[in-house]
Amino acid sequence: SEKLEETRPVAPLVPGNETTGHPLVELTHVEKHFGDLHVLKDINLTVNKGEVLVIVGPSGSGKSTMCRTINRLETIDSGDIRIDGKALPQEGKELANLRAEVGMVFQSFNLFANKTILENVTLAPIKVRHMDKKEAERLAMDLLARVGVDSQANKMPSQLSGGQQQRVAIARALAMRPKVMLFDEPTSALDPEMVNEVLDVMVELAHEGMTMLCVTHEMGFARKAADRIVFMADGQILEQNTPDEFFEHPKTERAKDFLSKIL
Ligand code: ADP
Ligand code: MG
Repeated sequence: SEKLEETRPVAPLVPGNETTGHPLVELTHVEKHFGDLHVLKDINLTVNKGEVLVIVGPSGSGKSTMCRTINRLETIDSGDIRIDGKALPQEGKELANLRAEVGMVFQSFNLFANKTILENVTLAPIKVRHMDKKEAERLAMDLLARVGVDSQANKMPSQLSGGQQQRVAIARALAMRPKVMLFDEPTSALDPEMVNEVLDVMVELAHEGMTMLCVTHEMGFARKAADRIVFMADGQILEQNTPDEFFEHPKTERAKDFLSKIL
């Protein structure tokens, strides 16, 4: 596929940003238990289009579980979750479609090990979005170029560094043209010298208007990119504030204690 090596105009990472401000993700009175463990306690959270939220809090506070409920990787006991106004369907094609609107990047690089980088990015658009193969490859190469790994398109995941793999994971999620991107500690498994190459892509996405929920301990990123910091502890959202307010004037003892340990 030499044709794919041609230089082509650079497409925006986030198409269709004409409207901002309306609620894209809404969690209302969400409750979740794992057996006796009450992991999400009356979670109420609204993320507006174009907003970047950084979710912080001690380990075990329910950050990952909350993210996973948003695209139904976890069920909830009660409450309501809406994506762009629509309740999450229970199962089937409708669930697959709604799930496709929520891109997710995890801590561990979960690329398909037996597929090339290009195939990793084109698979879901072809299967779920029924995109023509050529068109999917064009889109994939655009996105891989945007995250700086287009020269690796024909390699296997194991041939790439962790930072490169995580940038491919971001491109793969973006190829579904999601309305929202969830990042759950996307840099915490990376060697330190690779953290910034991933955070830079996330900052760029944020600047292009992507709606994002990011669980991260990277406070530099939080200050640079977040519109709002959400502080969780013991399954509850204890504080939501601008980065300046949260870092300079945390209100709860839990947040003060948390910040004293990480800053
Ligand atoms: P965080 O991401 O903030 O570290 P998690 O959402 O991963 O927190 O976990 C919240 C709590 O739920 C923790 O006590 C964790 O051990 C527990 N937990 C997470 N997933 C499961 C599961 N699948 N089964 C049972 N307990 C779980
Ligand atoms: Mg977690």
